[in-house]
Amino acid sequence: MSATAEILKTELSETGNESNALTDGFHLLIDALKLNDVETIYGVPGIPITDFGRMAQAEGIRVLSFRHEQHAGNAAAIAGYLTKKPGICLTVSAPGFLNGLTSLAHATTNCWPMILISGSSEREIVDLMQGDYEEMDQLAVAKPLCKAAYRILHAQDIGIGVARAIRAAVSGRPGGVYLDIPANLLGQVMDEVEGAQSLVKVIDPAPAQFPSPIAVNRALEVLKAAKKPLIILGKGASYAQCDELVQGFVEKTGIPYLAMSMAKGLLPDDHPQYAGAARSLVLKESDCVMLIGARLNWLLSHGKGKQWGEPNSKKFVHIDIDPKEMDSNQPIDAPLVGDIESCLTALMDGMGGDWSKSDAAWLGAIQEKAEANVAKMAPRLQNNSVPMDFHGALGRLKRIFTDHPDTILVNEGANTLDFARSVIDLHKPRKRLDVGTWGVMGIGMGTAIAAAVETGHPVVAVEGDSAFGFSGMEVETICRYNLPICVVVFNNSGIYRGTDINDVGADPATTVFVKEAKYDMMMQAFGGVGVTANSPDDLERAVREAIASRKPTLINAIINPEAGTESGRIGNLNPQSVVSKK
Ligand code: ADP
Ligand code: MG
Repeated sequence: MSATAEILKTELSETGNESNALTDGFHLLIDALKLNDVETIYGVPGIPITDFGRMAQAEGIRVLSFRHEQHAGNAAAIAGYLTKKPGICLTVSAPGFLNGLTSLAHATTNCWPMILISGSSEREIVDLMQGDYEEMDQLAVAKPLCKAAYRILHAQDIGIGVARAIRAAVSGRPGGVYLDIPANLLGQVMDEVEGAQSLVKVIDPAPAQFPSPIAVNRALEVLKAAKKPLIILGKGASYAQCDELVQGFVEKTGIPYLAMSMAKGLLPDDHPQYAGAARSLVLKESDCVMLIGARLNWLLSHGKGKQWGEPNSKKFVHIDIDPKEMDSNQPIDAPLVGDIESCLTALMDGMGGDWSKSDAAWLGAIQEKAEANVAKMAPRLQNNSVPMDFHGALGRLKRIFTDHPDTILVNEGANTLDFARSVIDLHKPRKRLDVGTWGVMGIGMGTAIAAAVETGHPVVAVEGDSAFGFSGMEVETICRYNLPICVVVFNNSGIYRGTDINDVGADPATTVFVKEAKYDMMMQAFGGVGVTANSPDDLERAVREAIASRKPTLINAIINPEAGTESGRIGNLNPQSVVSKK
């Protein structure tokens, strides 16, 4: 027992408290998390939280150690998306905290609940800037980058601190929360009974938010008046986990819909109302757009521009839990503020039994356009060229995901991301996990790990070779925990393409990598399966085998270095120099 513990024990017995048992910050924090059903912590051990991780594991929490905090953080972020409970990431102080903070900001940007718990150095020294080990005012740094940030200074406040963090993460628009744990908090002792009484079980952490009846009627009026309506489903709708209600609503209205990338599969992508293959047509021609858990941000070109047809040609209905989202980019004719389940339930009630379906000419035009586009694409997806191009490879993966609807697709890259998003159909909700709102590279392995851990389903991570490089070391983590993850590296030997040449010096061009890199050997190095796939046939065989065996697998899929385009589909975001171009 420590000296402080001895003193406290004496004091407690002098004040007549019969309970001699003591607890400390370590145990109170673990107990507070367990009391609130935290089952898994993603993190990297080190000063001052190494023992905390060990003790949490001993107390029955699953503690998964990563090789870099950013990937542990990305795992926690996606765990939050998949479970509607805050994903927990645990890091050391200053540098580890900063690595985790990138993922916390990513979770916040994507509206996913996550709590970053970081150990920190002694407050007295940090606040006087006296130069402590890993000194940093982490709370101040975190604040602008997350939804809420708290520091717990006293053991008796751990219960309330954890409760506040959970509520802030999951209520309203979900987001990332930072919880600062100074090293000496963990060692603080208090009476065990009082400690237990100080813990808080959060009741109804994300209360339902009902829309007002006026707003519901207004939305129904706008929808009723529309001739060419369109629904856009976003990842807020898949996060809400009211899948049957969303499907029922879309089908009852008969309105064609688009799914944003992570909302794919919320209704099966081969649904007759899915207008994905006629995206340009529906965005341009629709006269009313209903957004359900999707923001009119850059991913929808802010609801304006050529893509969206004539200016002011559309009415907007928008369901979102955050009132501030309304009118953020376009004036919203019928804002419906509330959670998606409550809003859709109210709309369904208001629609009654005799809702007339959308105009047949509108649906017919969409279907015709979609069929033509699908037919145009079909031969490209069936090509068996060697070296492979993106479409030949993805055509095979498309078949596999149709045969294995429970398998989760993780996807990042530039061309690899853009082509896979449109080619691979998903058939169930929350089966596509990708770069999210920021379009950030590096989410791959962390996301794949949490997807496997949280769902138990096999995961296929389709990765550009550049994107894979950001988190590649986590293949060791995948092997260590023996997770059913198959990483497919689309290896075109570079960023965008593998063909750039630097014609003024000996260094390689800025966008190319080592030619014929053997990424498969990275997985073999840690005892997993590594395969090279040169043809679509090779690729299909290897992925099917990996899904069946559930063994950690990396398939090095050799793609023609000439196959990609600069920045995939978002090359228009690159600024152009007016001076250069010799
Ligand atoms: P996408 O990228 O798929 O378009 P976004 O992340 O832009 O999706 O939008 C998701 C939206 O969903 C956010 O504005 C968020 O506030 C909202 N949202 C999240 N959860 C819910 C919920 N349960 N009910 C209503 N809206 C939600
Ligand atoms: Mg590449």
